[in-house]
Amino acid sequence: MGMFDSIYLKDVVCPYCKIKQSFEFQTKHLRCLLDRYKLGSKLKLGAGLYGITPQIKDGVLKDCIAVCESKKCNEIARQEKKEKGWKNFEFARTYFYADIEIKNGKIAGIKRIKKDKDFAAFMKKHAIIKKPKLKLEL
Ligand SMILES: [Zn+2]
Repeated sequence: MGMFDSIYLKDVVCPYCKIKQSFEFQTKHLRCLLDRYKLGSKLKLGAGLYGITPQIKDGVLKDCIAVCESKKCNEIARQEKKEKGWKNFEFARTYFYADIEIKNGKIAGIKRIKKDKDFAAFMKKHAIIKKPKLKLEL
């Protein structure tokens, strides 16, 4: 079943729309008991849904997933799905991944943000390439 834990972080810049906002990052690396964390929270360890969560003092929770609900991202997701031939855009959302750092058993912040490869390819394909202005030399 789709159980996970959530890490809520503020002031994260979405890699697609570039809007700074708060995000919920979902992970299956921890207990998967719908635990909720924020910056500085101590990890809850021990018995989880899928076994014993290993002791993590310092490390990284890789590929925690977040969904962006901004208007711009909604448009990006709809266009991306449209190109893929989707007919229903109700569930069109952009999402990305973050490696979240653990220091001293606590949520310490984001180490790295990774775009989803499909959205990254879509954005690259539709990027407006700015041509440098030509300087006239007289
Ligand atoms: Zn966004």
